[in-house]
Amino acid sequence: MAERITPRHENYSQWYIDIVLQAKLADYSPVKGCMVIRPRGYALWEKIQQIIDGMFKETGHSNAYFPILIPESFIQKEAEHVEGFAPECAVVTHAGGEELEEPLFLRPTSETIIWSMYKKWIQSYRDLPILINQWANVLRWEKRTRLFLRTTEFLWQEGHTAHATSEEAVEETLRMLNVYKKFAEEYMAIPVLTGKKSESEKFAGAVDTYTIEAMMQDKKALQAGTSHFLGQKFAKAFDVTYQTRDGNLEYVWATSWGVSTRLIGTLIMAHSDDKGLVIPPKLAPTEVVIIPIYKTGNKVKVVDYAKRVYESIKGSYSTEFDDDDQYSPGWKFTEWEIRGVPVRVEVGPKDMGADEVTLVRRDTGERTLVKVSQVVEKIKTLMEDIQNSLFLRALEFRKGNTRPISDYEEFKQYFESDGGFAESFWCGSSDCEERIKEETKTTIRVIPFNQPEKPGTCIVCGEKAEQQVVFARAY
Ligand SMILES: [Zn+2]
Repeated sequence: MAERITPRHENYSQWYIDIVLQAKLADYSPVKGCMVIRPRGYALWEKIQQIIDGMFKETGHSNAYFPILIPESFIQKEAEHVEGFAPECAVVTHAGGEELEEPLFLRPTSETIIWSMYKKWIQSYRDLPILINQWANVLRWEKRTRLFLRTTEFLWQEGHTAHATSEEAVEETLRMLNVYKKFAEEYMAIPVLTGKKSESEKFAGAVDTYTIEAMMQDKKALQAGTSHFLGQKFAKAFDVTYQTRDGNLEYVWATSWGVSTRLIGTLIMAHSDDKGLVIPPKLAPTEVVIIPIYKTGNKVKVVDYAKRVYESIKGSYSTEFDDDDQYSPGWKFTEWEIRGVPVRVEVGPKDMGADEVTLVRRDTGERTLVKVSQVVEKIKTLMEDIQNSLFLRALEFRKGNTRPISDYEEFKQYFESDGGFAESFWCGSSDCEERIKEETKTTIRVIPFNQPEKPGTCIVCGEKAEQQVVFARAY
């Protein structure tokens, strides 16, 4: 039998780890904090990559690759950037048996190396915009790690664009935020809040950081992707100017944006259940599994029939045929549930007589008898239905656990008991933000684009406040 998955209500963190390990998505590596992504986890990452990469190309971006090693002097060039990243960097000091003249940083992110190249590539307005994306690994020396959600090395994409004007760069920043929102909602089936980060939560080196924030099943927030307007900070640090149409010299405007293998953790935490992984159909590497149910006497007939069903399905869906003799059907059901395959097709002797099969939905466990001639159509409907209902369930959950709160005592009680998202006014002062973080362990997750018409009063200090923000505890 499979190992037991800790139920969510018992220990949510352990449940998450159990799913990652038992669905064989990832494993711990010999180096603490690093992760081995196993074939099933990597297949999920490839699905994510393939879809998002298509969306990047549709919006005019091209892929390129920059080196993993960055000279220390590059990292030092942008003051906020070095302050934010240097403490969590791993540094190569020796190579080829000698001490290096200049230490080399393993990239925590690639703004500096990329802007050193943009200096070479950009001279005039004709060279702009540059719309480049890179698929790569990055390394940040994390003290507390968790498979997929926070690991020392992780895989991601980082877009780095260069523009002639501030307006163009801001437009690009928001365009990519919308790409992430679309991917999260339409493919991952996870509703997200979008908006800006506060000063203290933004990317080290950004003018503005925009985010997509999702609610997990334990009501904590998870930042699933960010898009940064970098202003002219990196252009100034690397002296990247361009000649305008009028012949003037101006600094170039920049954006960067990224999502990572953290999305896999997000996916697990948002949808999975106590039986195992639940994958939205649009991201499922295996969409359908066929399991023949037979005894020794009728094996050949049932397997033959099931194979015919397989033949009729496999052209339309990524399908696996599981006629492994070493395991019972019951064991297989459990196993494929752990793996999160959206639809299971059971084929038994009775079904064979009626020219039927039984379809079982992974998300609800609901069973449907269907004629073999209609099986492809019916699976299509089921897939759409699973995709939609996962999204709606997550949306309802978030709505049900989001509350407008204007009183600080009520706010504290809310996070001492149930918790969730709190919509509260904030005056904008970092003192208030710091105090609420210390006293309630909540942070400002997002300053939403959609703001109430009337101003309110700050949840902490009671002063007049223009903006309503979303507070939550977060991963
Ligand atoms: Zn305040």
